[in-house]
Amino acid sequence: MDLSIVIPLYNEEESLPELTAWIDRVMQQQKFTYEVLLIDDGSRDDSWKVINRLAEGNPNLCGIRFRRNHGKAAALNVGFRHASGDVVITMDADLQDSPDEIPELYRMIKEGGYDMVSGWKKHRKDPLSKTIPTKLFNWTTRLMSGIRLHDFNCGLKAYKQAVVKSIEVYGEMHRYIPYLVKKAGFDEIGEKVVHHRERKYGRTKYGLDRFFKGFLDLISISFVARFKQRPMHLFGLLGTLLFLAGFVIAAWLAYGRFVQQIYGMTDRPLFFFGLLAMILGTQLFIAGFLGEMISRSAPDRNRYHIEEKTKNLNG
Ligand code: UDP
Ligand code: MG
Repeated sequence: MDLSIVIPLYNEEESLPELTAWIDRVMQQQKFTYEVLLIDDGSRDDSWKVINRLAEGNPNLCGIRFRRNHGKAAALNVGFRHASGDVVITMDADLQDSPDEIPELYRMIKEGGYDMVSGWKKHRKDPLSKTIPTKLFNWTTRLMSGIRLHDFNCGLKAYKQAVVKSIEVYGEMHRYIPYLVKKAGFDEIGEKVVHHRERKYGRTKYGLDRFFKGFLDLISISFVARFKQRPMHLFGLLGTLLFLAGFVIAAWLAYGRFVQQIYGMTDRPLFFFGLLAMILGTQLFIAGFLGEMISRSAPDRNRYHIEEKTKNLNG
């Protein structure tokens, strides 16, 4: 199969018939073999009924329904697991992304040598309250991830199948998929300017809290990627340094008190600082040690990204 098109959706009943008909038209023109995976993220409108009706009329359409709303990242996760096309496309259900972009994205992956191509909504059709924070978001993410993309969170993206099978999208991590892709060892991450249209039906599912959550996710994602397998390298180091500083201070004060016979050493602010540093240093060290023990028994501790094997290898 050439293409899997994964579409997460939450209360998008009005858009679905138009969207799927449009996709089908493009696929017929290009003679692609394809599947559309509609992931109903616990919609409370009639989206699921619409999906069932559409699937009856077109065997290329499949649907998966969550019992409750789990979020876009969860919907993508499940979609990725079911995708079997050579190239996997994700797009939003609200008709803001145009299916006309699919053939070119497909070509960029198949012939252009890209592992992943992210859409760039260069001319965004969204209110200012959304576009300005988005600029800030993209700027920070660019800086922290070192990936030169203008638009990290575009719903329209294309991947090699191997890419979606090697990453695990969870939480609200759909905003940082390019980063997950890079961490999985895929370096060819490209960008394509895509048409963006106004939302035709329904309304946006995200408010301003998206930026706050997004920022916390960025911190945890970069932290986890760096120290998950070796927490001791962070906490252990900080703890040891802090403890040593406290110890030196305490030793110095003791020297003054017992050798030089200077009184009132324990009234000095430095005394409290030294005490605090030793206690906090010990705590940090223990935190690192516990983290180390936990990560050693984590089920994915030996999950590496193997790209290829020679044919004569057994197992
Ligand atoms: N979506 C989803 N689960 C959610 C929220 C959103 O599957 O909990 C879907 C939504 O139906 C749409 C896509 O994710 O297909 C993008 O959402 P939206 O258009 O509201 O975001 P925006 O375009 O405003 O950034
Ligand atoms: Mg939208």
